[in-house]
Amino acid sequence: MIAENNYRCSIVRIEDCLTTEKSSGGAMKSYRKELWFEVPTRRALINITPKVETCLKESGIKEGLVLVNAMHITASVFINDDEPGLHHDFEVWLEKLAPHEPVSQYRHNVAEDNADAHLKRQIMGREVVVAVTEGKLDLGPWEQIFYGEFDGRRRKRVLVKIIGE
Ligand code: ZN
Repeated sequence: MIAENNYRCSIVRIEDCLTTEKSSGGAMKSYRKELWFEVPTRRALINITPKVETCLKESGIKEGLVLVNAMHITASVFINDDEPGLHHDFEVWLEKLAPHEPVSQYRHNVAEDNADAHLKRQIMGREVVVAVTEGKLDLGPWEQIFYGEFDGRRRKRVLVKIIGE
């Protein structure tokens, strides 16, 4: 296990965009993009708000909805505060609820050791939906969008889907 406690990870490679689609046939536009992540640690929280804002700009959509969801069952997308103390609190809380070790405590861990990551993802959620108003993410004052990685060290992706006009 690498850097179990290195939850706040700054050395993260994020690759944009395997697929981008835009259509503007009718009144409603639709935009799709995949954000790719390869986190070098088992767990990390990454603020992806700027990435989602870039997607929104690319889409040209001014009024509508943004869906952002993890495409893996051991990772989350959620909204909360970008505050290091809180991120530490999440780590401690999640480890209490679903400790990684001993890995033998979980029936899922037959050929894998990531049962805790499935449980953590379930608690932190799969996706968020954010309103788009006047071309901007209509977030509350402290709301930020996060990618929560609970079983990293491999390539994983997040879907951004935007619909509106
Ligand atoms: Zn698994």
